[in-house]
Amino acid sequence: MRTLQPVRGTQDLLPEVARRHRRIIETARDIAELYGFDEIATPIFEFTEVFARPIGETSDIVAKEMYSFVDRGGEEITLRPEATAGIVRAVLSDGLVQNTPLKFFCSGPMFRYERPQKGRFRQFHQIDVELIGVAQPQADIEVIALGSRILEALELREKTVLELNTLGDPESRAAYRDALVAYFSRRLSELSEDSRRRLERNPLRIFDSKDEADRRVSLEAPAFDDYLNVASHDFFAQVREGLDRLGIPYRLNPRLVRGLDYYTHTAFEFVTSDLGAQGTVIGGGRYDGLIEMMGGPATPGVGWAAGIERLAMLTPQPPTVSRPIALVPVGEAGEGLALGLAEMLRDAGLSVDLAYSGNLARRMRRANRINARAAVLIGEDEIARNIVALRDLDSGEQVEVPMDPSLNELRARLKALRG
Ligand code: ATP
Ligand code: MG
Repeated sequence: MRTLQPVRGTQDLLPEVARRHRRIIETARDIAELYGFDEIATPIFEFTEVFARPIGETSDIVAKEMYSFVDRGGEEITLRPEATAGIVRAVLSDGLVQNTPLKFFCSGPMFRYERPQKGRFRQFHQIDVELIGVAQPQADIEVIALGSRILEALELREKTVLELNTLGDPESRAAYRDALVAYFSRRLSELSEDSRRRLERNPLRIFDSKDEADRRVSLEAPAFDDYLNVASHDFFAQVREGLDRLGIPYRLNPRLVRGLDYYTHTAFEFVTSDLGAQGTVIGGGRYDGLIEMMGGPATPGVGWAAGIERLAMLTPQPPTVSRPIALVPVGEAGEGLALGLAEMLRDAGLSVDLAYSGNLARRMRRANRINARAAVLIGEDEIARNIVALRDLDSGEQVEVPMDPSLNELRARLKALRG
């Protein structure tokens, strides 16, 4: 049998990487809580229609990236490619839409059939925040501030730039769309096949193309700014003012559109130059039309998603882990006592790794391999004298500690070693 491999674009999160992910998620969750966001979790798969219409037939995601299948009951199912549509589905099916504003935090795996490369996988993980039911620009400002603060806490803010744009309201967007169709039609021969298709359905999306030629043509396209109506202009000005007031620097990027169909007004990304082509670590924006499109009452919303793998790749140092205590019984009598002793030390909050087998040398090698801070040795001699031997594995120093029933001294010494 050939060696089994993970499916292309998927990967195992081995402990060191899993720890980075956990730290990123916990940091984000704690900070989201400071802003009043509650954690929710929606299913990893939904009916395909939950994603197909809101995300948009011309989007890369729906056109070529969804993991869709028919299940054994004949239902059309899709593994979630992003979080927003599922959260909105939950808001509608759980009857929460009357309780706005709603502020949700979630994290978990997403699935997209993409070409795997650095920072781009077929199963990846996102942190996601959504603020539903607030039409005011304060909501945009707060979710951006939340993202900025998370990056700061992860010591990544300096490595990223906040890019900002507006997609205007539907009226501005229609006017801009006409201008874009006129412009891109004149340069049709230079566009990729994909973008020619986009031109008919959603010309704005050509800006999101990763094709070289498309990008070149996009650079000279008319600017949205000239087509924004007064309301859209004002809204964007207020968002910028708010960011200025909070001291959050940004760079305007008139070509920043987001991959999904349902965005209006504010669009933003935190980007880095440290990850090659996959430089966006957080992407988000306002989606005032989405909830209505999904069958709910007209309700505004704004949010973002962060790629955990990309954040983890940017984090240089693996977070420190607390070092365990190795409990090393020697001989049968020691083994008889070790299980109980390990439990007592864990009762005291100490992380204990019990050496199950092998001679003393082998058990000590394991203690070193797991980076244990200290070893507690119990053999026949120790038991006879009612002590244990405590070895500091950094200094090599060894002392004898009395084994009184309360374990007071041993516990105190171990805690002191842990620092
Ligand atoms: P890109 O332009 O890189 O394809 P996107 O616009 O498709 O990004 P979003 O849908 O906005 O990405 O997802 C938000 C974030 O999730 C991205 O900024 C990125 O950090 C992360 N992300 C998206 N797709 C992937 C993937 N295939 N692998 C790893 N991370 C991803
Ligand atoms: Mg993409």
